[in-house]
Amino acid sequence: MKLWITRPMPPAVEARARADFDAEIRDSNLPLSRDEMHRALTGFDIVVPTLGDLFSADIFAAVPQPRCKLLANFGVGYNHIDVRAALAAGVQVTNTPGAVTDATADIAMTLLLATARRAGEGERLVRSGQWQGWHPTQMLGQHVTGKRVGIVGMGRIGQAIARRCHFGFGMQVAYVARSRKELEFPAEYVPDLPALAASVDFLMLAVPGGAETRHLIDALVLDAMKPSALLINIARGEVVDETALIGALQGGQIAGAGLDVYEFEPEVPAALREMENVTLLPHLGTATEEVRTDMGNMALDNVAAFLNGRPLPNAVTA
Ligand code: NAP
Repeated sequence: MKLWITRPMPPAVEARARADFDAEIRDSNLPLSRDEMHRALTGFDIVVPTLGDLFSADIFAAVPQPRCKLLANFGVGYNHIDVRAALAAGVQVTNTPGAVTDATADIAMTLLLATARRAGEGERLVRSGQWQGWHPTQMLGQHVTGKRVGIVGMGRIGQAIARRCHFGFGMQVAYVARSRKELEFPAEYVPDLPALAASVDFLMLAVPGGAETRHLIDALVLDAMKPSALLINIARGEVVDETALIGALQGGQIAGAGLDVYEFEPEVPAALREMENVTLLPHLGTATEEVRTDMGNMALDNVAAFLNGRPLPNAVTA
């Protein structure tokens, strides 16, 4: 049973993979090319792919009887894999939910605080050597404590963000999801997204990517937001119509944005890079040694279960 891991991994994960499996670990950090995806499906029994490895329907169509029987994705988001096409080709898919939740919620709060309190701009000022000292009206930002936050997607990460907002910052939490949730803290369910957007100081995105949520945040939703509001996106870039977002920021429909993900990642439009009221991170949601190790171990747990004929702990359905 040959296993292919498509990126270098934290040392503990690589060590386990080499000890427990017949593993080949690719030494590039770039997404798989089309030829490499073909090789993944024909040359290996199990593949651990990740973000950027675009296993779209045409890749499966080009390999009618794949040798590969499991894509054990490294990451909770699997919108880069056409799961329906994979399952139809006899390839199961798993992901790594849970391991990523707190770290990603922490990055959402980092973006919220950095954007509201102008931390990026302030850091750039200090580094430029141009800072002239404290004064009562220097770089006034927005207060975060006690504000109203709207969370789009109240799943694992959405709830972890909501907990931080409620217990940590005394915020009023409102949210939209496909269904109402039973939560251990007060939170208002506002199923109409533009109505939610219109009512909050900060709109934070935590839905999965994919066709169903593509451009969920469009010009209509952005127009509905208060001119003082901030948009925070740790979900997937495609959830936001990036052109509409740039227009809303340039036109003053919203006051700022904090982004960890981008519609055409890793491309980040110059218009965004030029704006001081936008905080830009390079997809850091899960980027800690512990979390990436947990994610790798979770992916390998799915590999082990598959090899031992046990039910897959984190099977994904179409
Ligand atoms: P999850 O537990 O499955 O939660 C997803 C939530 O989104 C659920 O509440 C779901 O509603 C809601 N939802 C789905 N489609 C919707 C729609 N069309 N309209 C409104 N709400 C919708 O997933 P998670 O573990 O929280 O992860 C969420 C996403 O975060 C991942 O899929 C991934 O893309 C992203 N992520 C990013 C990073 C990063 O590094 N920036 C890290 C980890 C994850 P129901 O509960 O009602 O079904």
